[in-house]
Amino acid sequence: MKQSKKNKTQDLKVIILLGSPGAGKGTQGILLSDKFNFYYFETSKILEEGFKKAKKEDFIKIKGRKYYFLKEKKLWEKGLLCDPPFVTFLVKKKIRELFKQRKGLVLSGSPRTLYEGKEIAPLLKKLYGPENIFTILLEIPPKVTLERNKKRRICQLMRHPILSTKKEFLNLKYCPLDGSKLIKRKGLDDPEVIRVRIKEYKERTYPLIDYLKKEGLKIIKIDGTPSPAVVFNKILKHLKGL
Ligand SMILES: [Zn+2]
Repeated sequence: MKQSKKNKTQDLKVIILLGSPGAGKGTQGILLSDKFNFYYFETSKILEEGFKKAKKEDFIKIKGRKYYFLKEKKLWEKGLLCDPPFVTFLVKKKIRELFKQRKGLVLSGSPRTLYEGKEIAPLLKKLYGPENIFTILLEIPPKVTLERNKKRRICQLMRHPILSTKKEFLNLKYCPLDGSKLIKRKGLDDPEVIRVRIKEYKERTYPLIDYLKKEGLKIIKIDGTPSPAVVFNKILKHLKGL
């Protein structure tokens, strides 16, 4: 064991949130990153930012192949996942930057495929140490997934998600945290797109979970059906000592 290296990283942790669309990854991610002052790493946000900044002809070259931002954006808008090498390139770049800044991480929505896991998990293990990585699997039944996504809104300013199907929440017009307008996400939360996303989630995420287990990373399963506050407290119990 390289003791000196270990000491430097010992208070830096990584929390990986997995779960189907609408399981509450975004909500819990925000709560956890606030609680521990970790960087809230949201792949969808990193992709969206990339798409916004990129010009029509922009591409990334990985192992001799060109990945065009515009083509990736089109996949994304249909509810399909972007090309995995494209996603992991952006994600790994950002992880390295954040580690250099000595940031703990909360990852929501990445890795979400076996490919991404194989690219990202070794990097996280190398930088942060396997004992500092906590994978939390938020589980909800498919019916709840559909219901929640149909009603999901996010705030315009910070993308805070409002997932609850309770009346008090459905009547909200502005974000309780920052007062910006609540809007529906274009395309992503249409019922047809959600069905595609659920199917993709199952096909691509289950092998990932098996892989993470084999890599010696602990998977903590949490029922994501109760209210965010209840789910959050359950997660905190598992993270005791962080
Ligand atoms: Zn907000």
